[in-house]
Amino acid sequence: MYCPKCLAEDKIPYFRKKWRYNFYNACPKHKIFLTDRCWRCYTKIELVKIKHFRELCICHKCEKDLRESITIPIQSNYEYGLKAIMWFEKD
Ligand SMILES: [Zn+2]
Ligand SMILES: [Zn+2]
Repeated sequence: MYCPKCLAEDKIPYFRKKWRYNFYNACPKHKIFLTDRCWRCYTKIELVKIKHFRELCICHKCEKDLRESITIPIQSNYEYGLKAIMWFEKD
């Protein structure tokens, strides 16, 4: 899972450790759901397949820039989930 907006903001894009947690499915900063796929070819992004650092934001299959991925805004009925994530981040 990753937040395309966080990647886009990075000077040197990197995948956050916290994105690997199962329950960490949203970005509290951007209030969007994380995604685990390339939105163009719908391939699941697997970090093990990313060999070179400079390819970190590029889909290994279709070479689409993942920073341009479509994001899904979080609805207000999910905000309790977001609060749990923010609580987790304080630690
Ligand atoms: Zn983000
Ligand atoms: Zn792709």
